[in-house]
Amino acid sequence: MGISLPPDVTLQPATVNFLRTSPKKLLIGGEWVAPARFETFATFNPATGEELAQTALAGPEDVDRAVQAARDAFENGPWDKLNGEERGRLLWKLADLIETHADELAELETLDNGKPLRVARNGDVPFAVRHFRYYAGLAGKIEGSTIPVSIPNQFVYTRREPMGVVGLIIPWNFPLLMCAWKLAPALACGNTALLKPAEETPLTALRLGELITEAGFPPGVVNILTGPGVPTGAAIVAHMGVDKVAFTGSTEVGREIMKNAALSNLKRVSLELGGKSPNVIFADANLSKAVRGAFWAVFSTSGQECVAGSRLFIERAVYEQVLEGLSAEAQKIRVGSGLTPKVHIGPLISEHQLERVLGYIASGRSGGAQVFKGGERLGGELASGYFLSPTIFTHQDDSLAIVQEEIFGPVVAATAFDDWDELVQRANAVRYGLAAGVWTQDISKAHRFAHTVKAGTVWINGYGYFDAAAPFGGYKESGFGREMGQAAMELYTQVKTIWVGL
Ligand code: NDP
Repeated sequence: MGISLPPDVTLQPATVNFLRTSPKKLLIGGEWVAPARFETFATFNPATGEELAQTALAGPEDVDRAVQAARDAFENGPWDKLNGEERGRLLWKLADLIETHADELAELETLDNGKPLRVARNGDVPFAVRHFRYYAGLAGKIEGSTIPVSIPNQFVYTRREPMGVVGLIIPWNFPLLMCAWKLAPALACGNTALLKPAEETPLTALRLGELITEAGFPPGVVNILTGPGVPTGAAIVAHMGVDKVAFTGSTEVGREIMKNAALSNLKRVSLELGGKSPNVIFADANLSKAVRGAFWAVFSTSGQECVAGSRLFIERAVYEQVLEGLSAEAQKIRVGSGLTPKVHIGPLISEHQLERVLGYIASGRSGGAQVFKGGERLGGELASGYFLSPTIFTHQDDSLAIVQEEIFGPVVAATAFDDWDELVQRANAVRYGLAAGVWTQDISKAHRFAHTVKAGTVWINGYGYFDAAAPFGGYKESGFGREMGQAAMELYTQVKTIWVGL
């Protein structure tokens, strides 16, 4: 294993140690075990194209073994004997351990995913910590209700009980954070879990597995299965012993998961899927803030974000001014290895993703949209990685693929609008409904837009804020179910109604 680092950059000894010595096997029933078929796959550094590590590839036999371990842990103690407060204490301990190892986890994230180290260290890792703490607090506060009924002498109450064994399938854009988004509420509610990270980014999930063991979670409560969507993810979805699958990823795979869940044991499914979010700048907005906000709404994490504000609607009176502002922002930012200090934007996750995004850029050009800025793969010292300059398209044709489809790259489709009705019609004219943004100093107009747009989250005069306490999820083909906040407890519990004859 060779890791090329930018000049004057060194890694934490713990990071190097993890990369060199950790076995990167499967965590099943509290043990790190080799996969039944002894297969492995490589994970790469997207900034250099170099292999970082070989990781175990879980097949259907391993999934089966993990389901048995998770079922055993769910039904035969000690996990099922712990009360909510005791589960919360374990989650809090895990949060403390993540905090202690924050530098190392951030470096692993940057190496595996490419995002700037500053973002991983100040964003992803502390946000994951906060998630575990938030659900540590909620674990002992899962309440049922008493229900007044019309039948005399009957007392009716409800309990919220865990689902059982849950499969958690996550993508590569926020590897550690997505583990936290799903594991924290699932465990707070008393479930046991099979966690499948994306094949592109298994490293922080594996390190998290070590910390989960160190925190003292009983064996089998969390099982970590690295491997590709097929066979690993598909085997989790098809397994008759899995009670629920929570998934984040593309709408296409979400559709497949829903179908396969129905064909197996009708397991419960929650889906957080793609987006093509409208971001609207009205002429009365604070333009310097709006321009900066719109720029980062799409270009942070190189556009590889489900909520990316990738359709920019600009009121015609300020259209040219906003475009010039975006261009000036693009001029200022530095694209490069996430390990290089002061880099703002890292690489795309893989060669495949780069080719896919370049394909969209070519289709935008040939469809008649104009490249106002960027649109090229970056060469020179970045040639071995998957770097793309921030790309601003201008267009007036909403039927283009660059306007309708989730590109998941640093590409924004900017367009002018003239009036309210046109704006609302065009903003809602995609199959997705994950998020939206609006910039205006007229607060009535802002709320009016927020109430009209078909999206699960709307940001007014800001973009991309998340908090463990604030529910998040999609409208339309962006999925269903709400993660974060108390809403997520509904994803991981089922309601039991109990009638008592008095
Ligand atoms: P996928 O939707 O394919 O992957 C998400 C997760 O699902 C990964 O862990 C993947 O495994 C797994 N998976 C894939 N196929 C199956 C299956 N049949 N059954 C069960 N699990 C499966 O996203 P990609 O990584 O391929 O990215 C492709 C596009 O998806 C992106 O360009 C983007 O448009 C969208 N996407 C959206 C995300 C979002 O947050 N909304 C996040 C990621 C991607 P593995 O990766 O190991 O094969």
